[in-house]
Amino acid sequence: MLALLAPSTIAPSWAQNAVSANPPANQLPTLGDPAGQDFGVGTERKLGDEIMREIRVDPDYLDDPVLLEYVQSLWQPLLASSRARGNISPDVDGRFAWEPFLVRDKSVNAFALPGGYVGVNLGLIAMTSTRDELASVLGHEMSHITQRHIARSIANSKRQSLLSLAALLAGIVVAAKSGQNSQGDAAMAAVVGSQAIGAQGQLNFSRDMEREADRVGFSVMTGAGFAPGGMAAMFEKLDVSSRLNDSGGFPYLRSHPLTSERIGEARARLGTAPPAAPVSVLEHTLAQARSRVLMDSRFDALRRWQALDGDQVASALPDKLANAYESALASTLLRDWSRADTSITAAFALLRSAPAQKDAHAQRALVLMQAQSLLARGEPGKAVAALQPYAVEGSRPVLLLQTQAALALAPPGTSDDATLKQRAAELQTWVAVHPLDSLAWTALSQTQERLGQPLRAIRADAESRVALGDLNGAADRLRGGQRRARTTGAVDFIDVSVIDARLRDVEVLRKQSELDQKQFR
Ligand SMILES: [Zn+2]
Repeated sequence: MLALLAPSTIAPSWAQNAVSANPPANQLPTLGDPAGQDFGVGTERKLGDEIMREIRVDPDYLDDPVLLEYVQSLWQPLLASSRARGNISPDVDGRFAWEPFLVRDKSVNAFALPGGYVGVNLGLIAMTSTRDELASVLGHEMSHITQRHIARSIANSKRQSLLSLAALLAGIVVAAKSGQNSQGDAAMAAVVGSQAIGAQGQLNFSRDMEREADRVGFSVMTGAGFAPGGMAAMFEKLDVSSRLNDSGGFPYLRSHPLTSERIGEARARLGTAPPAAPVSVLEHTLAQARSRVLMDSRFDALRRWQALDGDQVASALPDKLANAYESALASTLLRDWSRADTSITAAFALLRSAPAQKDAHAQRALVLMQAQSLLARGEPGKAVAALQPYAVEGSRPVLLLQTQAALALAPPGTSDDATLKQRAAELQTWVAVHPLDSLAWTALSQTQERLGQPLRAIRADAESRVALGDLNGAADRLRGGQRRARTTGAVDFIDVSVIDARLRDVEVLRKQSELDQKQFR
């Protein structure tokens, strides 16, 4: 699905400009491929990048390392399965981003964007009760991308300004809110809403495309080892939930109407797929629990999650474990440390009480939350001790938590702390492989600052802005680095030349982005 709009709040400024711009249709440039009649791979990626530039600075774009790692753990096998099935041409494979991202929103939704990006609302993770259900939605959205449904929809549509289309798609994240500020800006909501519905009319996938995404997505998910029942279970759950609840919370259903035909086809496919390998069940339970708490961090909502430590209703282990996790995380966010500790202890005891489920993944997920809680209350030493079993795995959430702990533990004014140096080296290696990891660059910047390497810290800070698509912010920081190098005498020549070179790169990127935006206008 693409555009899925609930009436709502305020679009990003760029979207508002684009809405008013509205150039006449006959002035559109020819796009993409030399042939001109198709929407090329490179053009689609550029359009996707422009959209992501808007989305990444939206407060509801959520880079939660723990949840994102979990979604990636489903996404990567799906991607490998798509490749193994020959669904992705080499051209598309190399040029698309293949990147899932999280949206802090209670509504149940996932959406494919141009260029290989897939947004996943926390509300979707929260309502799925198995990894297979979530994987069925990811596989479906991935298949919209691999089958080039976006390009085909755009090529088929009466082309309006692609820039306004991009703005509207970026506005999805804002416009598809589940109504947290519903009485906020009614007039703007009406404008954005009607424009957005227009975009949905253009880009909504055809019924045939939806069926193809179901069919291809199913083979991709089962090929990746997920339980084939996940898709039918997801459909049934959506069906039941949407009948019990106000449909406003289920934008996914607006673009994916659940016909009895779709459900029937999903059931019929069941007999054709191999059974899934046994996996961690409770890890999904904890991802669900984390999504529920993070998707609405208002005080009242957190108090409700916190109160689950007094719940007497839950009897099944997963429900009790989810309650304990939710209460512990909510207590942490409310800075109620003793209650957080009680729930954390309860959660570990629940896991130990189920030796049959020996769930190492769930154990690790609990430890990560415990470390987060310990760091939040200023007990970095205990956080390091808790993370010890995972210290060498080199994963993103562990590395970021360890860095936070090292920064808190290093004595003030130190520039020669062995642990900090180690973290800096690990982060350096990490960003070399993941150059668009904004959080990692920020952590590296803070570490280098503490190690007395101001120019490197400035450069890393600038890279964190590049990763978010904020090229102006990046250029500002790099120029600040140049000034600093001029005014302070003793600086490393190499650090200075890196900053000069990166500033030139960023200027080139910025010009390119302006050209791209003109192309889409
Ligand atoms: Zn779809």
